Amino acid sequence: MRSYIALAAFGLVVTTSSLSAQQNALQTAATALRVSQIKTLQMTGSGANFSVGQNYTSTEAWPRVTVKSFTTLANYDTGSMRVELVREMGATMPKGGGAPFFGEQRQIMLVSGNYAWNMPAGPQGANAMAQPAPDAVPERMLGLWASPVGFVKAAMANNATTKVAGGKTTVAFTVGGKYKMEGTINAQGQVEKVRTWIDQSIVGDMLVETTYSGYKDFGGLMHPSRMVQTQDGYPALDITFSGVMINPPVDIQVPQNVRAFQPPPVRVESQKLADGVYYLTGGTHHSLAIEMADHIVVVDTPNNEARAEAVLAKAKELIPNKPIRFVVTSHHHWDHLGGIRSAINEGATIVTHQSNKAFLERVAKTPHTIAPDHLASSKKPLKIQTVGDDGRLTDGKRVIELHRLQGYDHTGDMLIVYLPAEKILGEPDAFTPPAQAGTALIPPAVPSAKALNDNIKRLKLDVQTIAPFHGNRTTTVAELEKAAASPATN
Ligand SMILES: [Zn+2]
Repeated sequence: MRSYIALAAFGLVVTTSSLSAQQNALQTAATALRVSQIKTLQMTGSGANFSVGQNYTSTEAWPRVTVKSFTTLANYDTGSMRVELVREMGATMPKGGGAPFFGEQRQIMLVSGNYAWNMPAGPQGANAMAQPAPDAVPERMLGLWASPVGFVKAAMANNATTKVAGGKTTVAFTVGGKYKMEGTINAQGQVEKVRTWIDQSIVGDMLVETTYSGYKDFGGLMHPSRMVQTQDGYPALDITFSGVMINPPVDIQVPQNVRAFQPPPVRVESQKLADGVYYLTGGTHHSLAIEMADHIVVVDTPNNEARAEAVLAKAKELIPNKPIRFVVTSHHHWDHLGGIRSAINEGATIVTHQSNKAFLERVAKTPHTIAPDHLASSKKPLKIQTVGDDGRLTDGKRVIELHRLQGYDHTGDMLIVYLPAEKILGEPDAFTPPAQAGTALIPPAVPSAKALNDNIKRLKLDVQTIAPFHGNRTTTVAELEKAAASPATN
């Protein structure tokens, strides 16, 4: 778990400046950006955001979603920010993952001090309940201080060091005791680039780099007209600003339920699907634990280290006195892969599609200094076994087949898991049956159900039980077939 405490006082200290004579670039930037006069700022624009961790294969860019409107309200005095996006999906979803939607989608994301939360989409009544989002605190808080005005304020408040090279000045400092920030300021005092690193359970200290360009006069403030932010090397946000307003009212109060929120404890529940075959649920992402003659095979260690360790512990509790020798990754999307480093730390061989080999080699060795996990200290080497379109694991008795879904736009490396003797199929993302049988799928989910159904037919799998890795129940091919044939497909 991350610690957020260190960021708490951050919003409060930025008003005290400690400018030394050598920090000319910072001074120029502070003057150019009117930092001493700006307490709040509104930035509006449009462009795109991207579904980080949801690329079609592990070597491609994040899938793009159009952002029709983008409004940021920042209060640098209170260390709070509100970002509102209206996203728009075209006729076809981009290849790759991300929560499916059609038409328009409004997102409202807030941060204040140690608290982050979202406001639900849809009509915004006074009674709309805030959704606590504690994991988003570092990214949003650093986003506030990575804005050009915010960066200069934070640099002045945090004893930044400066280094001049090639007519540009690199300004570096640390916030909250562990978050490095580094920015480039040009001779005109324009912030061109800000680099910071946040913890990500798979890729570790993840670079978030924001590039600002096209400075122009917005009602008396020289401000960039474009920002492009990358996460882990690929664009995550690309906004062209149409307006910047100085000192609008920005009063962001942390809702009571956000203040009081305690994350629920990690819970792994199990359901026996057949002798030695367990469906591990209890969270947002499910797993399988399968007993072999002298070892255990686990399918998916999702979310994060806490979830993954609980899943591995549950597998060993259900199947005692056997080591976990293989952990199969269904696909590389970050929500399902979130605990992969725990699987490596367990000493298991990671079974994955061949397209993930280079990515997992990096993941196993990537620095994890912001929030060190167990693999960061054990430094266990990656053991990997790759699979092409089809693969199998067997102890001579039980057989576990792995098949790559074809014609599946959600991801190119999806391995479904099929136990031919038990007629059980494990599958993430392709088909999540609605909580109540008989309810129609939302339209963007129908093509995925169809792809799964087509693949089951292509492979002639005799499936009796489908164990989806999301949702609240197992299902059948009959229900899948019905969903796949839904007229919403187009
Ligand atoms: Zn996925």
